[in-house]
Order: sequence, then structure tokens, then C-alpha cells
Amino acid sequence: GPTLKLVLGDQLNCQHSWFRQPAVDVVFVMMEVRQETDYVLHHAQKIIAIFAGMRDLARQLQQGGHRVHYLRIDDADNRQSLPANLDYLIAHYGASALHWQAPDEYRLDQQLQAYGAQLTIPVQMDDSEHFYTSRDEAARHFNGRARWLMESFYRHMRSRHGVLLTASGQPLGGQWNYDHDNREAWPGLPWEPSDPRPHHDHSALWQTIQDAGVASFGEPSATDFRWPLNRAEALAQLDHFIGEALPHFGRFQDAMSSKAWRLFHSLLSFAMNSKMLAPQTVVARVEAAYHAGQVPLASAEGYIRQILGWREYVRGVYWHRMPGYEQLNAFGHHTPLPHWFWNGQTRMRCLSAAVGQSLAHAHSHHINRLMVIGNFSLLAGLTPQALHQWYLGVYIDAFEWVELPNTLGMSQFADGGLLATKPYVASAAYIDRMSDYCKGCHYQKKLRNGERACPYNALYWDFFQRNAASLSKNHRLGMVYQQLRRMDGASLAELQEQASRTRAALDSL
Ligand code: FAD
Repeated sequence: GPTLKLVLGDQLNCQHSWFRQPAVDVVFVMMEVRQETDYVLHHAQKIIAIFAGMRDLARQLQQGGHRVHYLRIDDADNRQSLPANLDYLIAHYGASALHWQAPDEYRLDQQLQAYGAQLTIPVQMDDSEHFYTSRDEAARHFNGRARWLMESFYRHMRSRHGVLLTASGQPLGGQWNYDHDNREAWPGLPWEPSDPRPHHDHSALWQTIQDAGVASFGEPSATDFRWPLNRAEALAQLDHFIGEALPHFGRFQDAMSSKAWRLFHSLLSFAMNSKMLAPQTVVARVEAAYHAGQVPLASAEGYIRQILGWREYVRGVYWHRMPGYEQLNAFGHHTPLPHWFWNGQTRMRCLSAAVGQSLAHAHSHHINRLMVIGNFSLLAGLTPQALHQWYLGVYIDAFEWVELPNTLGMSQFADGGLLATKPYVASAAYIDRMSDYCKGCHYQKKLRNGERACPYNALYWDFFQRNAASLSKNHRLGMVYQQLRRMDGASLAELQEQASRTRAALDSL
């Protein structure tokens, strides 16, 4: 019988070596299964985008002369889990072997290993041919150190892959990192670039998903769907981004606005994480645009750092710390998510905007995720595991290998500081400096106490007071603790009271 080769829903890489030559003795297997729609409650757009991308890859493969067995979510013979469908397909084809590509999620890696181990036919796991690094490359770079530093890994990656270097191996422009140029608020100009077209009409697919009984949340936007179907569309988005947005990416990377939700970000995380688009292609095109004089070095470097640096780095953290990482809760936080995480209805304008756009678009850019939603969650003491489930479900680009280290590690400091050197928290002053959210807000950004005080303020000081034992020795927090020591007992007590009143009424903020 033929060899079955399993292609998972986030392995939509049409350039994989598996697909070079059609072969009669290979059947590619793709399946839409409840196992994958139901392991967390997903945003509607995420389910649509993955199924649409899978269907498109199957179509491309069939057109290229490959044999494909595709199970749709509503097929009568779909057993709705990987093992049950594989049992059926192996018997159906009298398969002589089963191959799969290395999954990026620990959950699937374990499941396929356990499944393969009990089969009587030979099994094989191949590389997914997507990342720059192997699963353990970052761990080898840090060689047992308790604290990791992204910047050190990033320089290693720049050198190893020869990105933005001079002929003698020095960083172009004389510096490795131009982040200090990247801290501007957005004054409303230049205009936010338009959304690249075409958008798709996925209403038939969305109907099928609903009829199959798959639960979801968020706006489906099925008739005006922005996420790409395949590599060709992702490349068009990449070129659009390089031409329209990348020149301004660096300057406004940390900016937030209620008038422009994507600003100068690329929206390419879904295309990359589903493997439609290779990170090497993105980095090469951005580097070429810099050499062609189309974008400033600070923008090119800042953007490349996110992909060559952060993206590979968090993947290394994930594989180094799984299993067990998903359980970490260094501060012992146990407050459930306020219900406005599911509808965006809060009087805090920043959170209403950030949560609202997450529900509307299955996306929100990094600073909204980190300094609005994540920041609030950490200050309020929300359960990191509940927050992890929310982030994993809501974002179009959320796959556990990248979402978990970002949420639990970078944003919630729940790992006690493996990934970040200090907790990413801030009071209203930071949010006001980087956004237009505070203008017209029900809450007053300057107030610390009282009904109209911005909730971030008291929560901020209370957070550092509560956690002085574990945080006050951190050098990067010296200023905060100096300020706390200067406050008198009465103001401290008042702040504490305000913070506990706030924490008791999260649902009605
Ligand atoms: P751009 O701003 O245009 O950045 C370009 C690319 O760099 C992104 O597409 C992404 O591939 C990469 N990148 C940037 N920052 C990171 C990072 N911190 N970690 C890994 N890659 C990065 N990113 C995900 O891809 N999936 C997630 O589930 C995810 N969850 C997050 C949760 C939290 C709490 C935080 C703070 C960040 C999370 N990120 C996640 C990182 C980042 O916010 C998104 O990658 C980014 O917003 C995607 O939009 P974009 O493509 O427009 O990014």
C-alpha cells in the first residue's frame, strides 16, 4: 500500500520538499477535526482561516498531480480525531508507512509519538522545513543558564545567518539594535496603510462550520475575510507591507490608537505561523528593501529582530520548558477573567479598544496585547492559565508554541523571569504617552484614588508593594521601589484600599 503523509492545519507550506514530485505511492492526508477545533474556544476567524488555507493547499496539491485524502469537518466518515481517522485511513489504503512533519505543539507531538509507537507499520517524523532553528537550538545557546537574554540569542542569529551584516561580520550601521529610535506615539500622520485586497467570501465554509456544531466566539467577518489563503496571497501582503508600512514600522512600533488598529504592523503572523510564508522569505525581502533604499535601517532591523530574534527565541523557550511551563504561576494569581474579555464592554477605553479589536479582527498588535491587556491582567492578578486560554483562542496567529511563552512568560512573568528581565507593567502615564486612549475615558489618568481614578494606577503600586519580596532586588526596578519607599504610610494604605476595591469589582469597571 501507499505511504500516508499527514499534513497538519498549521503546516500549509506548499514549498515543502514532500511536495516536489507527485508520487503514486504517496497519499497526503489532511483533516478538519473536532479534536483541533475544540481543544480551546477559538475565534471564528481562526477556524475559518485555517480550514480555508487547508482546503486551498489540498486543491494546489491535487492540481499538481498529488494524491490527497481530505476529510472535511462535516464528512460522514470523519471520526473527528487524528488517531481515529488515521486508524481508518491506514486500514482503508492498506498503508505501508505513516509519515508526519514535526508538530510545533507539545500536545500534538506527544499524541503522534504515542500513536506511532503502537502501530505495526513503520513511522517517520520529518522536519517541517520552516524555522531557522531546531527545537533545542536556543537552549544550547544559553547552555544551562537560568536567565535567558533575547538580545544575545538575536546577535547569534544575525551572525549565523548573515543578516544585516557588513563584509567583516559587523552589524550594519554599527549597532545591533535600533530600539531607542522606536518609541514614538502616532500623531495621526502618516496615514495608516490600507488593508491589502482581495478579501474572500467564506460564508459557505462558515455555514458548514456552524452546522457541524463547532463553538466559537468573535466576529466571523466571513463575507469580507482579510486573512490569506496561500503563499501567493501572503507574498502580496508582504510586498504591500514593505511598500506601505515598513518605512514607518520602527518609529511607531509601540504606538497605539483608537483610530487605527493595525497602524504600521504587517499582519503576517498568521501567514507565517500557518507556514504559508517562510520567515526566511520575509527577512530576505525586508533586507533587500533596506539595501534598495526603500526603508530606513531602524525599521528593517526592528522588524527583522521580531522574526529572526523573538519568534525563534520564544519557540526555544517553549521546547526547553515543556511540559510544565503551562502550569507556572509565580505570583499565585487566581482571579477569573472579567466578563468583558468576551464582549469588550468596559468603561476603560484602552481595554475596550484592545479587547474590542481582538474580538472584531482576531488580532491586536503587540503593545495592545502586552501593555494594555496583559499589563492589566498581571496588575489585577488574573489567573495566568485562564488568560493563556483566552489568548490561545482569540488571536488568528495563536498556536501554543508562540502564544504560551508570550502570555505566561513575557506578559505575566508567571515563569518568574526566564524570558523577560522584569514584569511588563505600567500605570496610566505610559498608556497615555503611547496612545490616544485616555482622552475621553470615564477614568482619569492622573488620579490614583476615588471612583474616577484610572484602575491601572492603584493596581500598579499595589502590585509592586505586594510583590516586594520577589521583585525589590531586581536592578531594573530600582526606581519603582525608591518611589515606593518615599511614599508615606497613609498614602500607601489608601492605594492598597483602592486596589482591593478595584479587584473586587473587575466585572463592572
Ligand atoms: P508585526 O508587529 O508586524 O511583527 C512581525 C512579526 O514578528 C510577527 O508577525 C511575528 O511573527 C513576529 N513577532 C513579533 N513579536 C513577537 C513575539 N513577541 N513573539 C513571537 N513572534 C513575534 N504572536 C504570535 O504569532 N502568536 C501568538 O499567539 C502571540 N501571542 C502573544 C501574546 C501576548 C500576551 C503578547 C504580548 C504577544 C503575543 N504575540 C504572539 C507576539 C506579537 O504580538 C504578534 O506576533 C504580533 O502582534 C502579530 O502581528 P503582526 O504580524 O502584525 O506583527
